[in-house]
Amino acid sequence: MTTAPPRADAALAETGQGARRKPHAVVIGSGFGGLAAAIRLGYRGYRVTVLEKLDKPGGRAYVHEIDGFRFDAGPTIITAPFLLDELWEMCGRRFADDIELVPMDPFYRIRFDSGEVFDTNGDAAAMRAQVARFSPSDVDGYDRFIEASREIFGVGFQQLGHVPFTHWQDMAKIVPDMVRLGSYRSVYSMVSKYVKDDRLRVALSFHPLLIGGNPFTVTSIYTLISYLERHWGVHSAMGGTGAIVSGMVGLIEGQGSEVRCNAEVAEITVADGKATGVRLAGGETLPADIVVSNADLAWTYRNLLPGVQRKHWTDRKLDKAQYSNGLFVWYFGTKRRYDDVKHHTILLGPRYRGLLDDIFKRKHLADDFSLYLHRPTATDPSLAPDGCDTFYALAPVPHLDADVDWAERAEPYRRAISDYLAATVLPGLEDQLACSRVTTPKDFEQRLLSFKGAAFSLEPVLMQSAWFRPHNKSEEVEHLYMVGAGTHPGAGVPGVISTARVLDRVVPDASVFA
Ligand SMILES: Cc1cc2nc3c(=O)[nH]c(=O)nc-3n(C[C@H](O)[C@H](O)[C@H](O)COP(=O)(O)OP(=O)(O)OC[C@H]3O[C@@H](n4cnc5c(N)ncnc54)[C@H](O)[C@@H]3O)c2cc1C
Repeated sequence: MTTAPPRADAALAETGQGARRKPHAVVIGSGFGGLAAAIRLGYRGYRVTVLEKLDKPGGRAYVHEIDGFRFDAGPTIITAPFLLDELWEMCGRRFADDIELVPMDPFYRIRFDSGEVFDTNGDAAAMRAQVARFSPSDVDGYDRFIEASREIFGVGFQQLGHVPFTHWQDMAKIVPDMVRLGSYRSVYSMVSKYVKDDRLRVALSFHPLLIGGNPFTVTSIYTLISYLERHWGVHSAMGGTGAIVSGMVGLIEGQGSEVRCNAEVAEITVADGKATGVRLAGGETLPADIVVSNADLAWTYRNLLPGVQRKHWTDRKLDKAQYSNGLFVWYFGTKRRYDDVKHHTILLGPRYRGLLDDIFKRKHLADDFSLYLHRPTATDPSLAPDGCDTFYALAPVPHLDADVDWAERAEPYRRAISDYLAATVLPGLEDQLACSRVTTPKDFEQRLLSFKGAAFSLEPVLMQSAWFRPHNKSEEVEHLYMVGAGTHPGAGVPGVISTARVLDRVVPDASVFA
């Protein structure tokens, strides 16, 4: 057990400054979950210090800037924007005054390996027409699928997305609904119940991959994403997702709180079973009344609580858990624009189930891949120099349990992706490259301290969801709370902002510590 540093309130009383007498919350990590938590805690009367290991905030939403090209490293698809509105409102501001969100149409262009194209958007008639183009007999089934997705959305997102599943009774209460909605089925199985065409089954079931789940194994609760997209649309931010991160940092600073970068937390200090603050890698200690970890869930429990005998999230249990896939991401700028390419394109390779088995079950890096291609300059040309385009191509790959030497494999893998893109939607690509950078699961492990290099923390399978997922109020240490992809409700920007929303129900009011 670590020696307790001085209590935050005692230390602050000495300063005699009004703002500094507020109870102190430390947030470890500045991902969307950590930033949202800081804003909510600031609103509830805490003085917050966000500590970020990297040189800039955002976590997976970091921004790479190379030779005049700006790359959002991670999230690009913004859904459920009301969650952002709410954070701005807590600070007496309007999100729309600071950030321009642009609705996407299509949401995504899905390109099958055959060259056929399926465009998705939020318009029911247009979607029916797309479905009919592929398989007229599936139109009725498609309508029924959207209706089922709407019902699951009502329960899974609207009723349960912000509930802290702290007690098993919370889980018991929802079992009847889960059975009624067929949550024991996988996403793919649920979609297949309604549509028969293989291409449509893929187009309607790939969404869990956006949050690190295998459509063949994650619970059909995640079909709610189809309705969520239809309900609130799919958006992109002018200036990129990084503009939202900067906006959130501005809100935190406006509350009198602070975001400190280049500040890696080495330990959460604990006394008498309660978190008392943190110790940074450089040795500095910061006392706090509460600590919120937005660092990787498994990393937090395995590495940041060295003196604590963990009863629940033991190393053994964390080792045995199922983790999401890894990602290979290639960021590149081009000397020309490719105006035919939409903002979001999904390029499906020749295999679906087989590829997912390789990634999630066999942990084997296959020669083929499916890609998500991001071209933000389709919406905001200012993200690249004049006449140029900014792109990233993302391929789901196995996490680091796979026997892959990424130092050796990264360049051939990138080249294979480049050749595929050149042969499909980006002719002459290699000759047009202006800059290039790759990220592999090894980078997720080393830069973001993600266990096994998983891109989305724990996989959202049924037995790792809701009460079964690590709780937002730590099961191990008092005054320690968890937000981010590895906690309830889970990964994705709406998911991690919702993890911070759950804190309102489990963190005591600041007045308790005042
Ligand atoms: C390539 C990619 C594309 C994606 N696309 C989308 C999308 O389009 N839409 C969508 O909704 N979701 C998307 N996601 C998922 C989404 O980005 C993530 O689920 C979400 O951003 C994770 O947020 P988080 O709060 O868990 O924190 P993270 O972003 O994981 O940030 C955690 C932060 O903690 C810091 N940290 C870790 N350990 C320490 C420590 N010891 N001390 C100090 N700091 C520490 C890390 O440096 C990091 O900055 C994507 C993810 C990736 C990787």
